Amino acid sequence: MTDTMLKNPPDVADLAQSAIEAVRAKPAKAAAKPFTAQYGECETHGQYPLNMEDEHGQERWYPDGCPICRKQANAARLLAASNIPKRFVDCTFDNYDASTDEQQRVLRRCEGYAREFEKYRDAGACLLLCGRPGTGKNHLATAICRRLLADGYSVLRIKASQYLDAYWSKGFDERESWLHGMASVDLLMIDEIGRSSNAKSAQDAFFRLLDARYEAQLPSLLTTNLNREELIEVLGDATYDRLTQGGSVRLTFDWDSYRAKKAGA
Ligand SMILES: [Zn+2]
Repeated sequence: MTDTMLKNPPDVADLAQSAIEAVRAKPAKAAAKPFTAQYGECETHGQYPLNMEDEHGQERWYPDGCPICRKQANAARLLAASNIPKRFVDCTFDNYDASTDEQQRVLRRCEGYAREFEKYRDAGACLLLCGRPGTGKNHLATAICRRLLADGYSVLRIKASQYLDAYWSKGFDERESWLHGMASVDLLMIDEIGRSSNAKSAQDAFFRLLDARYEAQLPSLLTTNLNREELIEVLGDATYDRLTQGGSVRLTFDWDSYRAKKAGA
């Protein structure tokens, strides 16, 4: 305290008055600073919000720039990690050649799987695409993966033969963490499941992977040239059961190869 304050102590009535004024002033003070939306400008996507008001009336800021650019950068990063071969990267639902009713039906089901992926993922519901080579299974499988990547899901594509070679080449400890990684992505696509010369060992290898995903309740997308009986023979009953539970979808591409048609035309 200063000497002046001791000599002239503040009047209690004045203190009370300032306290009352301070209380009265409070709401006026809050109202004096209304929320003002501010916008940034992206060269490609135009205006985007820089701030927002949350449910408590607090102002929140988005520090990361254009949300569309951010989403695209994230999708590109996920695509780079997805192992989708370059020759399939341009496959979309829009450029799928669906001229027959059957082809349109398969296209709609695949589009639906991608569109409602959250539902399928939460149920761990798998998608099996079966049919002869060249019927467009890979095209639609890739289109699904592309859509999910754009929506921010993690996707990994592996070719069945590459998976088996890698599985057999790894030691026990290394194999565990490697399988764990593959068991954690939102969608695992296993491409071109076919017969293996080492049938029993292949069954074990597929079981380890698909059982880990089943335990994590995460879906897998399989493409194969095999029919149902052949696929059960290759994967084993236990694995096939896990693939076909809980709202899983199995689609048959039952028409001639696009490649053969084009070559013959
Ligand atoms: Zn942008």
